[in-house]
Amino acid sequence: MPETLDSLLAESRDRLKEAGIEGAAIDARHLISGLLGLSLAGLMARGGEPVSPQDAARIRAAIERRAAREPVYRILGEREFHGLTFRLSKETLEPRPDTETLVDCLIPYVRRIAARKGCCRLIDMGTGTGAICLALLAAALEARGFGTDISEDALATARENAKRNGLADRFQTLRSDWFETVEGRFDIIVSNPPYIRSSVVGELEPEVRYHDPAAALDGGNDGLDVYRAIAQHAGRHLETDGVVGLEIGFDQKHAVTALFQAQGFRLLESAMDLGGNDRVLIF
Ligand code: GLN
Repeated sequence: MPETLDSLLAESRDRLKEAGIEGAAIDARHLISGLLGLSLAGLMARGGEPVSPQDAARIRAAIERRAAREPVYRILGEREFHGLTFRLSKETLEPRPDTETLVDCLIPYVRRIAARKGCCRLIDMGTGTGAICLALLAAALEARGFGTDISEDALATARENAKRNGLADRFQTLRSDWFETVEGRFDIIVSNPPYIRSSVVGELEPEVRYHDPAAALDGGNDGLDVYRAIAQHAGRHLETDGVVGLEIGFDQKHAVTALFQAQGFRLLESAMDLGGNDRVLIF
């Protein structure tokens, strides 16, 4: 009997379970549908169809990578964020659903500024895949965005993601170590900086520790190094009535608020992520 999608799905799920992967069944479905270019519903509907030996081999190879704790979307090479699709690369953090909260919080500000001024200039510090900046540009036609990163590989990835989402004409990249080469003023400064304490980075789950770039995770001894840098420089690069939007670690709301208040900023809003943790601050 030829192998069917259903039998390969069951085999894959069992292999991932045996490897101790939580959510083995979901991961198997995402990997197989992603590799075959099917939706999850499409995969279920075609369960009885035969799989070619080539496809079966590709799927088994991907399942082995997942069994070795490589994240699903790293294996597929791209993932969805806020309705757009982003290619991932070695030096980019995988966009997280929790970060969509930051985008959702900032969209009203971007639209309000764009409506008032006819445009809105935003800058995303440490843009990685470009996910935050590009999702904001997609939400407001008058917005223009700059993505900074210290990694050329990340900037190339962000530019490619701008192109594939039809946003390249409003997006530019800038190689910079945080504010080092940034000039001019912006209506919105946004960042999901590295904010994990150096001593904790080594304890993160293997999917994060070995597959997300350390430079996107490690926020120094107390995890606050980059917030300090942003708080110190943001004032010089912000328009009057401009806004700073930040993702933060679950226990950093008070410390980060204090850093920004010490520089004369006012907390406008904070928000929690899908898990009920403090995740977003707007100054
Ligand atoms: N939220 C990320 C994690 O789960 C950390 C991202 C960051 O440091 N900005 O590891």
